[in-house]
Amino acid sequence: MQRRARLLGPAYRLFYESPLHVTRGEGAWLIDGKGKRYLDAYNNVACVGHSHPAVVEALAKQAGVLNTHTRYLHTGILDYAERLLATMPPELAHAMFTCTGSEANDLALRVARAHTGAEGLIITNFAYHGVTASLAEASPSLGKYVKLGHTVRTVPAPDTLRIAPERLSNYFADSVRHAISDLQAVGIKPAALLVDTVFSSDGVYTDPPGFLAQAVEVIRQAGGVFIADEVQAGLGRTGDSLWGFARHQLVPDIVTMGKPLGNGHPLAGIAVKPEVLAAFGQQCRYFNTFGGNPVSMAVGMAVLDVLDNEQLMANAKKVGDYLRMELNKLQARHQLIAAVRGAGLFIGVELVSNLDTLTQATAVAARVVNQMRDRQVLLGTSGEHANILKIRPPLVFSKENADQLVHALDCVLATHS
Ligand code: PMP
Repeated sequence: MQRRARLLGPAYRLFYESPLHVTRGEGAWLIDGKGKRYLDAYNNVACVGHSHPAVVEALAKQAGVLNTHTRYLHTGILDYAERLLATMPPELAHAMFTCTGSEANDLALRVARAHTGAEGLIITNFAYHGVTASLAEASPSLGKYVKLGHTVRTVPAPDTLRIAPERLSNYFADSVRHAISDLQAVGIKPAALLVDTVFSSDGVYTDPPGFLAQAVEVIRQAGGVFIADEVQAGLGRTGDSLWGFARHQLVPDIVTMGKPLGNGHPLAGIAVKPEVLAAFGQQCRYFNTFGGNPVSMAVGMAVLDVLDNEQLMANAKKVGDYLRMELNKLQARHQLIAAVRGAGLFIGVELVSNLDTLTQATAVAARVVNQMRDRQVLLGTSGEHANILKIRPPLVFSKENADQLVHALDCVLATHS
């Protein structure tokens, strides 16, 4: 740790009071140098499982043949674009590739601004959208020292614990309306509403399905576009569909993707409606040295193959439903749990210190995460008060893995009652 601080400086952070030093990954497991195995219930990047042999093989095979950029003809990028776009509504007919989710969101913003001729951006209160200058100022979850951009406005998360589900659609749409007026009051036109479609950082809000659609109508009526950030939600995690936006019965203008696409290899990108991309295409040329290279495309294809062959979306649904059911049983026994929510293998468990006032149990949640780590189960927290346990394992997670997690959580919560 001293070596890290000396070499990497002060901005990096580690997980857990007692940080882990893992040396190997396999399926849903992370393994340390002594062979101790930790159940990974947090890593949505390794969606088809850590170090999946088919993905590793595809990567090595293509790396041994050719790796170059997109200014030469290559069928790899076309085959992958075709395959990826086939998973989307037909209106999203163009794909562009980047290396990170941040670049995908940054590109989406530029595309949205070129299309609308506007600058304003609306995001949620505790969103994270990326690491570039334009996104750091649109990522309030980075902390209180982050200054939001002057063209950025935030809306409250659709908090289903504190807002009645039947009011949620109106509530969220009204918040977006208010943000638009706020921008317009200082002469800024809205370019986009950008949201993570499962509200990963805000606290994991997936229900009721469809609640997002009204807000999307509102931004469109004001001349803006809707950008669905699928960096966390996407690629089958929610169990019913490959993409989180699908549960809201809407077609985004731009979809941004990242993390799981390459199962750990840096592969990300956007899908976009041709009419939305047209202005950007006229104004700019797009070149990304590594984005869309043949190795990345081979990896992306292999990930989609494994997802299909091993039916991992169906597994996310089956195991996710089971895990939420078991967590609901824990809720009946532990006063700390105010809500179990989510879809497929994206689950939030909200901890409160008082079920009447719904006071967020921030310190307890931090303890719980560390105690779970000591019991060799890895998870994290979400939400402005970091009181929501975030459970987001590789999609190969089994019922036995779910049982292990629930048993550990039961024991840990018992120490807090
Ligand atoms: N959007 C969301 C919702 C994310 O969670 C992240 C990464 N945590 C990003 C964008 C940025 O992706 P990357 O770290 O690959 O740049």
